[in-house]
Amino acid sequence: MRYITLISFILIITACGRQKSAPDAEQLVMSSLWFQNSAEARALYYQAYNIARLRIELALDTLDDNNKYAVVADIDETILDNSPSEARNILEGERYSNERWMAWTSEAKAQLMPGSLDFANFLKDRGVELYYISNRSVDEKDVTLANLKKFGFPFADDKHVLLKEEESSKTPRRTLVEESHQIILLLGDNLNDFSDIFENRSEALGFSTVDQVKNLFGSRFIVLPNPIYGSWTRALFGPISDLSPRELARHRKNFLSDY
Ligand SMILES: [Mg+2]
Repeated sequence: MRYITLISFILIITACGRQKSAPDAEQLVMSSLWFQNSAEARALYYQAYNIARLRIELALDTLDDNNKYAVVADIDETILDNSPSEARNILEGERYSNERWMAWTSEAKAQLMPGSLDFANFLKDRGVELYYISNRSVDEKDVTLANLKKFGFPFADDKHVLLKEEESSKTPRRTLVEESHQIILLLGDNLNDFSDIFENRSEALGFSTVDQVKNLFGSRFIVLPNPIYGSWTRALFGPISDLSPRELARHRKNFLSDY
């Protein structure tokens, strides 16, 4: 009996220790489940790619045949599904870290987001070049290309996969594409994938900026859903790394609106 009590005590202490190292893991369970298991999430991806395709067809009907046209797409949670890396964090009681992320991408086993490959092949067929502008680090170039090539993505090459070197902003990389091509559409799960006007969210979480350009969503900007992570969390919660699990849970609830 004494041994059982001792073992129980050790298990409780271990569980507490694990939880301390992962203050946000438990809070990501529902959003990760939704992303991986809801038919609605799947439908939203198809919806986004269907609209993207329609927009390209409309654009090509009116544009000059002699120009070079490009589409810019983010990779993570736009083209490829990395939700298993978040699931691992949750199940192993760890929080996101650069090391854990790099370990995941090095496996090059992210699956497709629904509709993404068909859309990329459609662009190739229509003579529109696809540029992948991602904030994966340049150190992840080989594994990222390997992951894309595994599915036979067109334009999975050095010229079209533009990863982060030093600057997080994607504007310089979009400008680089614009030196030779006219960008006709952008796709991403983070508003920063579209324009630097969304990078500053200090005012009203960026809502007013979104309102000002509302007509561009579904026309020039195609947004994919990501409830798990993104710039919105940093804008809302601020720095959270020093908060205990209990403090973080309380902190997050402060932002719920109940009228
Ligand atoms: Mg992304």
